[in-house]
Amino acid sequence: MTLSFTRTFPVSPRVTSLIDGESVPPKSNGFQIDVINPATEESISRLHEADPDEVDAAVRSARRAFDSGIWSRMDINQRKDILYAIRDHLRKNAEELAYLECLNSGLPLQSVRIHVQRMARNFEFFAEVASNVNGETYTQTAGYLTYVTREPKGVAGCISPWNAPLALSSMRVASCIAWGNTCVLKPSEFTPISVRRMVEIFHEAGLPSGVVNLVNGRGAVTGNALISHPGIDMVGFTGGTATGRAIAETAGRQLKPVALELGGKSANIIFDTADVERALDGALVGIFGNNGQQCLAGSRILVQRGIADALIGRFVARTKKIRIGDPMLDNTEIGPLAFRAHLERVLSFVGVAHADGATLLTGGQRSAAHQKGWFMEPTAVMVPSNDTRVCKEEIFGPFATFLTFDTLDEAIRIANDSKFGLVSYVWSEDLNTVMRCSRDIRAGTVWVNTPMMRELRAPFGGYKESGIGRDGPQSSLEFFTELKSTIIPIDPVTMHRYGAS
Ligand code: NAD
Repeated sequence: MTLSFTRTFPVSPRVTSLIDGESVPPKSNGFQIDVINPATEESISRLHEADPDEVDAAVRSARRAFDSGIWSRMDINQRKDILYAIRDHLRKNAEELAYLECLNSGLPLQSVRIHVQRMARNFEFFAEVASNVNGETYTQTAGYLTYVTREPKGVAGCISPWNAPLALSSMRVASCIAWGNTCVLKPSEFTPISVRRMVEIFHEAGLPSGVVNLVNGRGAVTGNALISHPGIDMVGFTGGTATGRAIAETAGRQLKPVALELGGKSANIIFDTADVERALDGALVGIFGNNGQQCLAGSRILVQRGIADALIGRFVARTKKIRIGDPMLDNTEIGPLAFRAHLERVLSFVGVAHADGATLLTGGQRSAAHQKGWFMEPTAVMVPSNDTRVCKEEIFGPFATFLTFDTLDEAIRIANDSKFGLVSYVWSEDLNTVMRCSRDIRAGTVWVNTPMMRELRAPFGGYKESGIGRDGPQSSLEFFTELKSTIIPIDPVTMHRYGAS
């Protein structure tokens, strides 16, 4: 095995906020959290939590930057140049960011490399989108010109999870600031290291101070202070459904718009008309990619009965050969889960499945090959029905759940029998089967004969409890900008003159 990094990179012993372009010194009596490397269980840094006062300072900085117009009224070509410079600086520092992300999240390098590229691409993409927006004009009412302009909405609170820290934080921030908004970002308290460095790099690339501020800390403290702050105009959130519901309630009381990218329990349907070889590869990628910690996991694998035994047998054989290990090694396929409580939660679903009458097909334990680190064997169970808890609840780990079905209608019914509706996967070479699934599955994305190809130009987001709103150019335009109609008469208007006679 080869270590894929040619060198290591220093990790700051402290993670603090970054407000107004400056690193905030830690408070002596503030709350601290150990930042852990999940592959070794060793502490790699200390997070100094931002209390409500610090969050207030960050929001004020973002508000000052917004109101000053340095960013919101900057010529779009100049703003675009800065966003491109951010892309270039992120690429120049890609190795360091990938290293920090692997170290803190335990995600295997092969996933992290994709995330790091996506992070840089997000800034390029939204710079282009924002620079191409035009308005509307209306001249139909005689004597009047009405034009409609888009304006940035203000200051956003952006909150991101731990399962792809760089890719998801950058998506929130890029889609927000490209329109001229400013923001305060709060990443997950479990994985603050790479995101802290990313925000520093924004400033090295020339982003004006105050446009992106960073606060770190627990959701209930720092996150809650952020979304409750009256200076926040909107909230962009990526994370779990329960948290999303709580955030929407708080924001709703203040009539703040929210965009929510939440959890999933997506169906991966393999028909007997599939190219079975590719469907098998796709099913493994769909559930074990990113250590199984992905919102878009194909976690309910529905296999048509005639091919089920053979396909599931081969799935299990391949699963047993998956390389679990150091996420920093090039050929590792699954690294450790992100933190201890999460490993314990994912493992607890083995008992839950058993209680619901499921059969364990493989895995189900901590990895015996690792004395240290939150490594888990990739796991698969066969369940008697979609009513089991492992089919209903998002497990968010390397945990595949198999079901069988007989007909197309039954497959669609099972796929839709979920409170979630984020994505779905369909494997079939039969056009009618594919078209019926595309029309009838109630999910924001239907991938046909491919695992998770993400088209940035298309909306991404969920039906039902998988979210409100979409990531994407049109959706981010609508969420992060306000519309203004300006109505002007061409000649002086004649008005009724109250009290004149
Ligand atoms: P989480 O909801 O526990 O936390 C997400 C973020 O919210 C963290 O930064 C956390 O500190 C913060 N937070 C928690 N409580 C808060 C509160 N009361 N107020 C404000 N902020 C609060 O989610 P997680 O465990 O970090 O991430 C996993 C979840 O994210 C999964 O459910 C997954 O499906 C979902 N996810 C969805 C998408 C998507 O695009 N739909 C992408 C990735 C992850």
